[in-house]
Amino acid sequence: MALNEYRKKRDFKISPEPSGEKSSAKGSKSSLIYVVQKHRATQLHYDFRLEFHGTLLSWAVPKGPSLDPSTKRLAMQVEDHPVEYAGFEGVIPEGEYGGGTVMVWDKGTWTSESPDPAAALEKGDLKFTLHGKKLRGSWVLVRTRGFGSSSKTSWLLIKHRDEFATTEDVTQEMPRSAVSNRLLADIARDDGGDVEKAVTGDPAPPQPAKGAAAKSAGGAARSSRAKSSAKPAVARGSKRRTKST
Ligand code: MN
Repeated sequence: MALNEYRKKRDFKISPEPSGEKSSAKGSKSSLIYVVQKHRATQLHYDFRLEFHGTLLSWAVPKGPSLDPSTKRLAMQVEDHPVEYAGFEGVIPEGEYGGGTVMVWDKGTWTSESPDPAAALEKGDLKFTLHGKKLRGSWVLVRTRGFGSSSKTSWLLIKHRDEFATTEDVTQEMPRSAVSNRLLADIARDDGGDVEKAVTGDPAPPQPAKGAAAKSAGGAARSSRAKSSAKPAVARGSKRRTKST
């Protein structure tokens, strides 16, 4: 039903993404799927999806979710996706719609905190609880006043204050797939994608900075020695002084 736009944008003979043909009609399920797919397309973004009425309602979150309630994240609503899409991790061929690497960054279930979620979505203020591996607790999606054509599709994704709120940057601290533990570059490598492009969506590796490490190790050694006895520290200090002058 609502998948026309999704299907129109894609060629399923070329892209490995699910067409959603065998969709819905599963009857009433007690739990609804929640998934976030990290997508290194033209721009890196996180696709935030909530199962509702047989499809996945979808928002593209450029900066990804934040666990800090004071940080509101822009979420642009995009076309509904088939429920099977929640399991898709792999490579969309370059030149196709959304070409690039897709990772299942987080998954689980969600429950509405708004008594009537359909009305809440219509109103543009959906409160819900996430039961994921990375994102948990209470959240809200609020429609915001966008500009021009985006006026109806701009939302904000905000963490509510609860025991799962933190100022840690979850996108940096937990960059791996929730289903395969791979980084974007690993997925691209395994599935014949553009590894160079994918790696730009992974966090930069920790700075090697051998000089800094050696310096701080030396500093620690020096201070511990200085603590145990004042004499060697004085001796070393004077030695260095004579050397340097
Ligand atoms: Mn996307």
